[in-house]
Amino acid sequence: MAKLKLALYWAASCGGCEIAQLQIGDKLLKLAEAADIVFWPVAIDAKYKDVEAMPDKSIDVCLFNGGIRNSEQEHLAKMLREKSKAIIAYGACAYEGGIPGLANLFNRQAIFERVYLETPSTDNKEKVTPQISYKVPEGELTLPEFYDRVKTLGQTVAVDYIIPGCPPEERTTWLALEALIEGKLPPKGTVISHNTKAVCDDCPRKRDVKKVKKFYRTFEIIPEPETCLLEQGLLCAGIATRGGCSAPCPQANMPCTGCYGPVDGVIDQGAHFLSAVASVVDSNNPGEIAEIVASIHDPAGTFYRYSLPDSLLRGARIR
Ligand code: SF4
Ligand code: SF4
Repeated sequence: MAKLKLALYWAASCGGCEIAQLQIGDKLLKLAEAADIVFWPVAIDAKYKDVEAMPDKSIDVCLFNGGIRNSEQEHLAKMLREKSKAIIAYGACAYEGGIPGLANLFNRQAIFERVYLETPSTDNKEKVTPQISYKVPEGELTLPEFYDRVKTLGQTVAVDYIIPGCPPEERTTWLALEALIEGKLPPKGTVISHNTKAVCDDCPRKRDVKKVKKFYRTFEIIPEPETCLLEQGLLCAGIATRGGCSAPCPQANMPCTGCYGPVDGVIDQGAHFLSAVASVVDSNNPGEIAEIVASIHDPAGTFYRYSLPDSLLRGARIR
């Protein structure tokens, strides 16, 4: 039987997803028996022109991680879409924009000013910021265009499947790769995970409809081991997050941060989480409610840690 052709690419990402792909351990040997990797810039020497030369739809599956921050990433996403029969958004950044998507609280100008002009370690007397084209005696130098906002892969090209997580757990990666090898991929559009319900479904902590008078950061309290963290005032996003990860974070006293994305049927994970948090606030008094809500440190990073570009807001409105 002909081997499958696999491509892997990273765009606006941290590299964690590449490491997560290797976490399947000795199952890599099973993957290598079934598939040839034809493009993987982080690990093999394949040039963009090699992909350009491939016939359309000659790659069986492309695992694409990272969001779309610049024009080079958009170009590669479109090219890999043309060359691949199926494209998988691998990890929270490709799926929802991820951590780099929090930069959507600012625009390009604000980011450039901060990074290239204002930081204490910057020495840039001529106030140079990145330009897409620069003429030198030898010719023209070019850089990709840095966009105002991070986009998700799905906002850039049609995506066939999603593997959620930041990064995806080994069991989730293998669930998808095994289905690929066995020719048993689920219907297009599926978010591939062991659970379609919330992380709470995998979490052994007990929920008791308890209300809270204050929210805490993780270093401020030592939580009681058996009770739901949200009901102890820790902002656990498990209630608004797809399960399938086995809930390792709440079992280690750490609130879920929401990396597996929304549960089926929810279009804005942050709004869903916000609504769940509102339901545990223990007051009917507007002044006291405002005080309790004020104890939430970093609301944007709490509710939209991975999903701001994919939210209904997409980012902050900047004039
Ligand atoms: Fe890194 Fe998480 Fe983004 Fe993967 S999803 S590239 S691990 S930040
Ligand atoms: Fe567990 Fe968090 Fe759900 Fe509470 S909100 S049951 S701690 S996953």
